[in-house]
Amino acid sequence: MALYAAAAAVLAGVESRQGSIKGLVYSSGFQNVKQLYALVCETQRYSAVLDAVIASAGLLRAEKKLRPHLAKVLVYELLLGKGFRGGGGRWKPVLGRHQARLKAELARLKVHRGVSRNEDLLEVESRPGSASQVPRFVRVNTLKTCCDDVVDYFKRQGFSYQGRASSLDDLRALKGKHFLLDPLLPELLVFPAQTDLHEHPLYQAGHFILQDKASCLPAMLLAAPPGSHVIDACAAPGNKTSHLAALLKNQGKIFAFDLDAKRLASMATLLARAGVSCCELAKEDFLAVSPSDPRYRQVRYILLDPSCSGSGMLTRQLEEPGAGTPSKERLRALAGFQQRALRHALTFPSLQRLVYSTCSLCQEENEDVVRDALQQHPGAFRLVPVLPSWPHRGLSTLPGAEHCLRASPETTLTGGFFIAVIERVEVPSSVSQAEALAPALTTSPAPKRKKRRRKAAAGASTSLGT
Ligand code: SAM
Repeated sequence: MALYAAAAAVLAGVESRQGSIKGLVYSSGFQNVKQLYALVCETQRYSAVLDAVIASAGLLRAEKKLRPHLAKVLVYELLLGKGFRGGGGRWKPVLGRHQARLKAELARLKVHRGVSRNEDLLEVESRPGSASQVPRFVRVNTLKTCCDDVVDYFKRQGFSYQGRASSLDDLRALKGKHFLLDPLLPELLVFPAQTDLHEHPLYQAGHFILQDKASCLPAMLLAAPPGSHVIDACAAPGNKTSHLAALLKNQGKIFAFDLDAKRLASMATLLARAGVSCCELAKEDFLAVSPSDPRYRQVRYILLDPSCSGSGMLTRQLEEPGAGTPSKERLRALAGFQQRALRHALTFPSLQRLVYSTCSLCQEENEDVVRDALQQHPGAFRLVPVLPSWPHRGLSTLPGAEHCLRASPETTLTGGFFIAVIERVEVPSSVSQAEALAPALTTSPAPKRKKRRRKAAAGASTSLGT
């Protein structure tokens, strides 16, 4: 039997649990067991990557006679191995017809994952900095308690508190019953990966929220001072809304919209448990919310965290490594909605500052959406530079991308995320001229407070580092 057919037969046997790779290789009757074993192991290692590339190139749809396991072995040889051995047999011209498309899909996958080498595409589980090694982040809910009290509680339970971390390396080194304060976020405690706190009494009582660090950034970077009116455009299940409420100290108003009744119901429970009292929840399509409605006249801050492919989500990376790349059709549909939502948000007349975020790694849902929206309003809005020491920035396909943040298990020890902070450049027409021209002369202390807070959000990492 030829090498590739033998390798395909072993892969099929492993999948249908007929035996281990080693056992099936030895019982295959193939003479060069070493060569066969190495090929099967390598193909298996890249299995999820190969599945993704083969599916997006439409290889099996186009070549009906090519069986999936053989396709996997051949595509491995073509793209990741040393090229076809022994001439490649009758499948060489078949694969040749698809070579360009397969290569392009592999390149696209790398761009989506933000990596440049083939090895970096290997299942996240098996690499350092993988999804399974992301620490457990605990956001203290300052509407109900304070950091010191939560720290004391954990200490009484036998945990050892190490103070504020000075770098990501401190977080990486966390083990056993040790915990730290995050180097960047003020009320974020960090425990070793896999620490399960879902049954913890303080979690059950809403004193802390189990929320990934990257997901805590949007509310922090929105930097809305207490008393502000804020729209949370796509709000359920409400983790960011509850964070916003904590930063507002429950003063002001959050208009939170979502379309999904079930998610809104669990959001209502979450907000009640977290002690949020400044939020109006509405089952509404954000695209249908009228910017000229007098209720939103004072809305200066919008958080837009729309539905996305979730390709950066840790749970997805852990359960289905390699399955995070959405199809082109799905991406187009999602990006279409995201563009409409961002364009719509920018039409709110008093808007000053907006945070756009997704838990997607795809450029189409991130940089492309932001570029489209800024182009719609030339000169009216700008990207705000935030967290200068954050190590992972936007893709340079967008002018000012260095102001945007990306996040990933490898680079920031968090889930995959994208964040852009957008600010109005021109003076909104609804702000009175006197207020706009002479903020120092106004009697209200609000503008000063806003400025200080934003400065803190923008420069937090300068002093603390990440
Ligand atoms: N911000 C939320 C949080 O931190 O918990 C997560 C939001 S989730 C990524 C996106 C949400 O947008 C989903 O709950 C979805 O139901 C909602 N959504 C989708 N289309 C919408 C629309 N047109 N108007 C309002 N919400 C929408």
